[in-house]
Amino acid sequence: MAEQRRVLIVDDDAQNIKVAANALNAPDLIIGFAKSGADALRRLEETEFDLILLDVMMPRMDGFQVCTKLKEDPEKSHIPVIFLTARTDEESIERAYEVGGVDYVPKPFRTRELIARVRSQLRQLELRRRLEQLATRDSLTGVYNRRRFFELGEATFSRSKAGLAAFMIDIDHFKRINDVFGHQIGDALLKKTADSIGRVLPEKAVFGRLGGEEFAALMPAKDADEARHQAEAMREEVARTVLETEDGRNISCTVSIGLGIDREAASLDGLLKIADDMLYRAKGAGRNRTMLRES
Ligand code: GH3
Ligand code: MG
Ligand code: MG
Repeated sequence: MAEQRRVLIVDDDAQNIKVAANALNAPDLIIGFAKSGADALRRLEETEFDLILLDVMMPRMDGFQVCTKLKEDPEKSHIPVIFLTARTDEESIERAYEVGGVDYVPKPFRTRELIARVRSQLRQLELRRRLEQLATRDSLTGVYNRRRFFELGEATFSRSKAGLAAFMIDIDHFKRINDVFGHQIGDALLKKTADSIGRVLPEKAVFGRLGGEEFAALMPAKDADEARHQAEAMREEVARTVLETEDGRNISCTVSIGLGIDREAASLDGLLKIADDMLYRAKGAGRNRTMLRES
């Protein structure tokens, strides 16, 4: 079965919701509903929806206001909104697009037309997601690519008042692994290493592959101890992870980690530079270790 998609139907009239929900009844669609603008915004806080069918005329907050609010919210502005409404004057149609709607279906709707329009939006959503994936993720490991890491990293840095830790993580003697086992196994080990690190990172961490066998992570940490603890957790998880090759060999690797704490730096670049210097020191001190500048 195709991946399931969540559609939120917003209408102050229960009968209208029922008719639309019936029309969209399909195994791959999960339908949610809301009876007012406020109710819709609440539902969207709790659950991620892929598409919204939005009535215009509703008491208190009308559909245009709901849509305007959504488009102002960076977490929700990407959700496509189809207006489903009895208002068919040209001004309303124009307004629907102005506030960020992607389509406009007059009520009473024709069932097959509504389904076709919903499906068309879901196809476009799929395409946008694929493009976003290509633009922001490293294709080998699936973690953020360099560009996205810096984008999210800058936002995180400027938001965080204090207590941000940066980690530069580099696989030890990776060239040797390629030389001994071949590039393909090197690739598999790179992926495995990214998975190991991702497993122990908190969800709010920003984690990316900067290039080659070098990764970086940013996360909140209340002090140097907590940051060091986090780094050690990553290092240990990598060291105990084993890649089993098809011909039965067990391969593992270690990483060296350089650590920077934000009170030491005025910019993200500055912070990463400290972490990078510490990484260099960790390599020099024998690898498979975490290094933090003692202040
Ligand atoms: P060190 O412990 O000092 O970091 O040694 P190293 O061998 O890991 O570091 P070096 O920078 O000398 O070599 C990195 C190697 O990583 C060289 C390159 O061939 C390999 N590498 C970079 N990107 C990839 C990749 O995408 N796949 C594979 N298989 N190897 C890669
Ligand atoms: Mg290396
Ligand atoms: Mg390197």
